[in-house]
Amino acid sequence: VLVVGSGFGGFHAARELERRLPRRVAEIVLVSPDDHLTYGPLLPNVASGVCEPRHVIVGVHAGLRRTRHVAGVVESVDLAARTVAVEGLDGLRHELEWARLILSPGAVTRPSPVPGLAEHALNLKTLEDAINLRDHVIHQLDVADAIDDVEERRARCTFVVVGGGYTGAETAAQLHRFCNRGLSRFPRLRKDDIRWVLVDIADQVLPELGPKLGDRALRMLRRRGIDVRLGTTVEEVAESNVRLSDESTLDAYTVVWCAGLVSDPLVGRLGFHTVAGRVLVDATLRVPPSPDVYALGDAAAVPDLTRPGQFTPSTAQHAQRQGRAAARNVAASFGRGQERVYRHKDIGLVVEFSPVSAVAKPLGIPLTGLPAALVTRGYHLYALPSGSGRVRIVLDWLIDLFSRPQVVRVGRGTAGEKSIA
Ligand SMILES: Cc1cc2nc3c(=O)[nH]c(=O)nc-3n(C[C@H](O)[C@H](O)[C@H](O)COP(=O)(O)OP(=O)(O)OC[C@H]3O[C@@H](n4cnc5c(N)ncnc54)[C@H](O)[C@@H]3O)c2cc1C
Repeated sequence: VLVVGSGFGGFHAARELERRLPRRVAEIVLVSPDDHLTYGPLLPNVASGVCEPRHVIVGVHAGLRRTRHVAGVVESVDLAARTVAVEGLDGLRHELEWARLILSPGAVTRPSPVPGLAEHALNLKTLEDAINLRDHVIHQLDVADAIDDVEERRARCTFVVVGGGYTGAETAAQLHRFCNRGLSRFPRLRKDDIRWVLVDIADQVLPELGPKLGDRALRMLRRRGIDVRLGTTVEEVAESNVRLSDESTLDAYTVVWCAGLVSDPLVGRLGFHTVAGRVLVDATLRVPPSPDVYALGDAAAVPDLTRPGQFTPSTAQHAQRQGRAAARNVAASFGRGQERVYRHKDIGLVVEFSPVSAVAKPLGIPLTGLPAALVTRGYHLYALPSGSGRVRIVLDWLIDLFSRPQVVRVGRGTAGEKSIA
């Protein structure tokens, strides 16, 4: 059984296959350029210096017992020959055979036609992006602290986040907190110099939470000092400014693009039927008309049986459960257990602004403030796969609560490297 991708979907598929298929029945091979699963929901914690980067990843070799990890990128799939072409980390191409194929290559940032965006905006999708973003912000504050020109200093201290979904809202709130808490490291900067702007084309933030809780989240963000601009989009990005659709131009050296994902480019090369760029699967996660190919997670359009006519959203909770469901159905195809359709009712969304402030809707119950923050962190601890070292994350959270942030660059992106391209 060949699994593509070591994210939420692929990792959990491999783990469940290990449980269900004995070694003599099937070999499990996981192909991914990464040797780990990245726990994406904690990337804003990494970008804001709360969690150590290594603590939010789970090593494939630590979390899986007998899966063979092939470090490389699947370039193409030959359905007739039942092979995949893999480009290894050494750049060489080789072929691997499969009897069952599970595709879980996730998503990448959606390319946008906005002029200047690809060259000048930052991303928050990978661990590297999170480290890069944190370094970039500290770099801007360092420059601002050293200069006398008031306008230039203000531009260096202005940070624009595009996208009011969970990634954008968490990034703006958590990095705003990081800047404020780290201010004493920059003796010439004042609290008023720091400005975080959150821009979204929609007329509410966090639409996943519904209008009422979304409204409360908006008020909370504004109370924290975030300048939230709704019904607004970015028209052009240059190195030192951003032009918005409300006809304003913000002088800023930082734009963080959190406004949408598309399936990994591999999906487009397979020739399968797609919906909004995601591989269309049936409720058993099979890709018609290929009975031995399964797709899931952010790369797949999976019918949501709890909301007829809709597809499951791109979230970790679905990817993880779909990984397990695909493994169960693959095992059934080898005569082990029963095939079942995928059905999961969303257990809600959690969005953290700070250790004591969040919005959450667990099982449909709207929460804000400290209760939401506790539920948020509790949920992450529950959702982190075993083998991840949850204790390290709890220690990171405690250290962050009781000590001043360590405002140092760690060597990446020292010149404010941009990474969206
Ligand atoms: C900053 C951030 C915050 C988030 N917050 C939340 C949240 O609060 N709640 C929530 O539910 N979700 C959240 N998500 C979304 C969640 O992380 C994704 O929905 C989830 O990771 C999707 O899982 P996946 O397995 O489909 O893809 P991924 O986890 O992205 O994994 C894809 C894997 O496939 C590999 N890959 C890609 N192409 C190839 C190829 N050609 N060959 C081999 N391997 C390949 C990649 O390297 C990666 O290992 C967040 C995401 C981000 C980025």
